[in-house]
Amino acid sequence: MTDVSRKGSLSFLNPFKTRSGSRSSSRASSVVDFKIGDDARKSSISTATIKETNSSGRTSRAGSAKNSLEYTRSSRQGSTLATTGEDGWDRDAQTGERKDHTDLLHSLVDESTAESLADKAQAMFIGIPAKPAADLFSRFPEGVWRRIVEFLGPADKASLAFSCKPFRTLLGTRSWTDLNSPQNRDAKFDFLGRLDEQLPNHLLCFQCGIYHVRTQKGQEVLRPTNVSNPIFNCPNVFNLENKVARHRITVGRALPFPFVQLILRGQKYSPEHGIPIDSMSRRYKDRDGEWTHQTRYVVVNGHLLMRVISSAFATPALPPAGLRRLLYSPSDNFNPYFSVCAHWRDGNLMPAVKCALSHIPKPPEGSGIAGTSAKVQYHFHRPHPIITLCSECRPMRRCPECPTEYLIEMRVQEDRSDPDPRKLFKHAVVVTRWSDLGDGSSPKSLEWAACNGEAEYDSFTALGKRAISGTFESQFTVDQIPGQKMVSMNPNKIKLGEKGHDWY
Ligand SMILES: [Zn+2]
Ligand SMILES: [Zn+2]
Ligand SMILES: [Zn+2]
Repeated sequence: MTDVSRKGSLSFLNPFKTRSGSRSSSRASSVVDFKIGDDARKSSISTATIKETNSSGRTSRAGSAKNSLEYTRSSRQGSTLATTGEDGWDRDAQTGERKDHTDLLHSLVDESTAESLADKAQAMFIGIPAKPAADLFSRFPEGVWRRIVEFLGPADKASLAFSCKPFRTLLGTRSWTDLNSPQNRDAKFDFLGRLDEQLPNHLLCFQCGIYHVRTQKGQEVLRPTNVSNPIFNCPNVFNLENKVARHRITVGRALPFPFVQLILRGQKYSPEHGIPIDSMSRRYKDRDGEWTHQTRYVVVNGHLLMRVISSAFATPALPPAGLRRLLYSPSDNFNPYFSVCAHWRDGNLMPAVKCALSHIPKPPEGSGIAGTSAKVQYHFHRPHPIITLCSECRPMRRCPECPTEYLIEMRVQEDRSDPDPRKLFKHAVVVTRWSDLGDGSSPKSLEWAACNGEAEYDSFTALGKRAISGTFESQFTVDQIPGQKMVSMNPNKIKLGEKGHDWY
């Protein structure tokens, strides 16, 4: 820790530094907004740093840097509003380009984006050597500093006190002990989060508010939920009232929050800080159901996106009991076998899946001459194996309350387990889910909490025309982006939960 404080100087108070890592999507999120406000509070100090490190001849330039910096902030907030409305992405549509392949494309379309200005301002800092904070401190009388620090929040105060001795003397160690009070819990995690880059061998535990040593550094493996898998020694590991945050993926599989931290740290700082993202992909079959699943993750703009493809072979004309047996897991509180967000019971996701299953053509039945002739007819004029879904079940669905999208398909897949070679190819229902699991800053981060049903979130305002599915798929292939139209999974936002919407 002392090592950190010595070399730390004011680096983690630099607003550009914190911005550059997150660059996070213009999607509105309270986390991002909070950081913006946070940066603004720090600006007095960072501007002082600019003036300090520039020679007198360049002071005016530093002043203009400040102006552009302020402009950046206001326009950044502005752009947050614009994308949440219609404007930002309308311009995209005018170019005829609806996909979101690269940042480059965005910078071409939207030349006045806040990011480009922030990058320019950041470039101005390159080559300016860091100065000891003590020199900076001595430039102003202590009374001026006292006035400045009055404007800082608890996390900023603690960071400044952590930067060097003069500031610690000014602020006192109380700025740290204050963080232990329950009302400063969020500020404590904010402060601890800023030390993340300096602690590759540790991981911040959100149950304890402590950086624990990673006991399997680099070897952390995601395991099914019934396997004990401690990645650090945490006294709260068996504390039922303060459980580690996790997101349910499928039956018996979940994503614990520490793995989200590890992936995002590994991408943001260095591979040493986390685990490779490809080590998270899985392909497995449920033990008690007919479903197979494939999970894959990708990081875009500092956010972890997840895709789960679940499929199961389905027979035509299933009666209601057969549908239930196919879709819901009795051992997992009658949750669907495929991956869902916390809001799956509300709206029309389950009716749409059932609708898709109803489109499997039924072979002829009956006996006697009529039955036989129908069977002969069927044999020579088999219905086309590719099923076209109806307008009810075909569109992609977006959960209005969290950043999750679903696509339901009927595919013809090979069933190697069937001994009858004539039945090798069968119809399978495929449900694909894409979710944005947030920036990994905390289990309270907006997207993560929304997917778990723990935060208010309006996905259509936040995401606009930019589909998570499109963003995800464009990371792998430019050509095969799902082109379905997007509808709301729960258009009237009626929440009936367990009771309603004939989900079962
Ligand atoms: Zn802990
Ligand atoms: Zn249908
Ligand atoms: Zn949802």
